[in-house]
Amino acid sequence: MKIVFLLLSLLAPCAAGQTPLLSLPVHVHLMRSSSQPRMQTTLTENAVRDIFSEVNAIWSHAGIRFDIVAIHLLQALDLPPKKWFVRDRNWVKAAIPAAQFNTAAIDVCFVRDMGPNGFFYGEPVVVCEMPEFTKVSGGSDNPVARVAAHELGHVLFLKHRQDHTNLMASGRNGVSLNHQEIRDARTRAMQILSQWRLP
Ligand SMILES: [Zn+2]
Repeated sequence: MKIVFLLLSLLAPCAAGQTPLLSLPVHVHLMRSSSQPRMQTTLTENAVRDIFSEVNAIWSHAGIRFDIVAIHLLQALDLPPKKWFVRDRNWVKAAIPAAQFNTAAIDVCFVRDMGPNGFFYGEPVVVCEMPEFTKVSGGSDNPVARVAAHELGHVLFLKHRQDHTNLMASGRNGVSLNHQEIRDARTRAMQILSQWRLP
C-alpha cells in the first residue's frame, strides 16, 4: 500500500504540470461482419465509454485526453478468408474500409479476436476485445483499455520499451510513462492538432 501512495505522490506533480490539457478527437468503430465472426466485436457503446475512461485515466499523467466524438457500427469488407490468415493484422487491416474515415480524428476500431492484442501502423488503431497479457504490479484492471492506451501511444510516436511496468511494454498491463515519453507524446499530440486546424 505504501508503494502505491508513494507512486501516486510522485505522479501528482507531473500530472499537475502538464498544461494545457491536449484533447484529441477519436472516432470509434465497432466492427461488424456476418462472414467473419472474429471481426465482429461484442463490445457495446457503454463498454467503449468505460474503456475510454480508463484510457484517459492512464493518459492523464501526460495531460492528454482522447475524446470520443462518435461511435459507429462499421461493416467489415467481405474479403476472401484464405487471402491471408484471418487473425493476421494485415488481413484485419485490409478488411477495414478505412477509405470512409474522416481525417480529423483518430479512428479506433474494435474487433473480437486477432493475433496481436492491437496494432497501429498508420490509420486506424485496431484493438482486440480479448487481449492476452501478463499482469504487472500497478497495472490496469481493464486489459482492453490498456491495449487501446498502448496503441494510442504508438499514434503519438512512442516506441516499445520493455521495462515491464511501462505502458509501451508489449503483452503486459503496465501503464507508466517516463518524462521523455510524456514530452514526446505531447509534442506529437500538438503536431496532430495543428495539422487538423489547417484548412
Ligand atoms: Zn505496441
